[in-house]
Amino acid sequence: MSTELSSKAGSHGPSSAVSGFVGADTHPMLIDGKLTVSSSGEQLSVTNPSDGSDLGHIPLATGADVDSAVAAARAAYDSRWRQMMPAQREQLLRRVTDLIERDSDQLAEIESIDNGKPIGHTKPIDGPVATRLAANFAGWPTKISGDTPAVSIPGHFVYTLRQPVGVVGAIIPWNYPLVHTAQKIMPALACGNTIVLKPSEKASLVSLRMAELFAEADLPPGTVNIISGDGPTTGSSLSRHPGVDKVAFTGSVASGQAVMRAAADTTKRLSLELGNKGANIIFSDADLEAAVNRSFVAAFGNTGQSCVAGSRLFVQSDVYSLVVDQLTKLATEARIGHALDPATTIGPIIDQVQLDRITGFIDAAVAEGANMQCGGGRITNGDLASGFFMPPTIFTDVDDSATVACEEIFGPVVTVHRFDTEEEVIARANHTPYGLASAVWTQSVGRAHRVAAQLETGVVWVNTFDMFDPTVPFGGMKGSGFGRDNGREVIDMYTESKAVWVGTK
Ligand code: NAD
Repeated sequence: MSTELSSKAGSHGPSSAVSGFVGADTHPMLIDGKLTVSSSGEQLSVTNPSDGSDLGHIPLATGADVDSAVAAARAAYDSRWRQMMPAQREQLLRRVTDLIERDSDQLAEIESIDNGKPIGHTKPIDGPVATRLAANFAGWPTKISGDTPAVSIPGHFVYTLRQPVGVVGAIIPWNYPLVHTAQKIMPALACGNTIVLKPSEKASLVSLRMAELFAEADLPPGTVNIISGDGPTTGSSLSRHPGVDKVAFTGSVASGQAVMRAAADTTKRLSLELGNKGANIIFSDADLEAAVNRSFVAAFGNTGQSCVAGSRLFVQSDVYSLVVDQLTKLATEARIGHALDPATTIGPIIDQVQLDRITGFIDAAVAEGANMQCGGGRITNGDLASGFFMPPTIFTDVDDSATVACEEIFGPVVTVHRFDTEEEVIARANHTPYGLASAVWTQSVGRAHRVAAQLETGVVWVNTFDMFDPTVPFGGMKGSGFGRDNGREVIDMYTESKAVWVGTK
């Protein structure tokens, strides 16, 4: 472990199980079955957002490294993986699942150290979710099949085949790297593809630790390649690479659009999981205690750094003041702290860049006349001063058109809006270019289904929030992207349908 890490981490240092990994100076990538550094020797430094301590370096994969990873994935695809019997592929993916499950707590801890998500979240949620994702998709290879369409042309029989797309390039963000790594790699492999995955330069450690597990699982070399690096160098090379057949991207709208442009030259298959500005709607007939408690988590879970964050809270007029008061109480009582402190509910922001972006939105909201109920800028005193911490911020009296109410903040900021009628709130909730996820709280069965049907988002939660399962499709409408992760739908994202016509006369 580096001296700085141990000295700054204080009582929240890593456990002995992960200290060797997080204390290493360089965390290698996986290319063609070998753990390796960048061919140019270039690296990026890694900082613990909870305390500013040094977490060593990750390789900056160059265009040449991307070439090597894609060539390895292509060779593995052509020579081994696509040819492998589905049952054998399942067996290997079950081995991967067992390793993820075995190291679930370690992976959770590495993620907490690297991206600041509280250990009280990563251990009980992210680790088990990654294992469930892996287990679910490990079982798919023997279940993927085509169809026999009922054609009306005499003397012809038609069947469809579901075949792999080829080499997948996957690019993921920093807020759920453990879950996203499993979520991209496992279905791609289940469908017979090989893959090159690039985690975010802001949180690569857990994906690079998973690279060691993929190496340990002894898949054919090149089947899974995990490379680190930034967007402009590594991500851009991967998304425009002629050897990549499909890009599976999760991240911001701006980066997704850049990926879309880069992928156009070679007509790659594409799925985009992008940003959001979620509407969370509380009607006055809701179970208010449940609604407020869960709306707090919706807005401030993972310090608001969640694509599905309920960052626009609409509350019916007759319960508005009550909800604002209760939410403010929860926000001011929240336990903000180091990600490895089990008592922490609100961890740090990922880095200075993101923190500055969030405080910019807070300043703009105040300038535009919003009323700050609680919260504010960076915490600059006490134990938290060396990390990137902010308190939960609640704004009321915000116009729907205010910047803070329109832009994805990706931080611990919620705007609370008053509404009167069902029709009105549906129109206001849908008045956004985004369309990933939304929620409605009501005891009326009819209203619940009416509103769910009209909200323009790929996911709607009714009397619950941020529920997730590998069997349920997840993805956005409108500016939040297209394609789906998880569910049966993801199998279509990683396979091509081929129609075979047979003349039977
Ligand atoms: P980001 O777009 O900055 O980065 C995401 C990934 O894209 C990173 O790996 C980055 O290196 C890479 N990248 C950046 N520019 C690129 C380029 N030009 N070409 C190729 N790759 C490039 O996003 P972020 O800040 O890491 O994550 C936050 C965003 O991700 C938010 O908008 C959030 O809503 C979104 N997100 C969406 C989902 C979802 O499922 N819809 C899930 C999590 C996060």
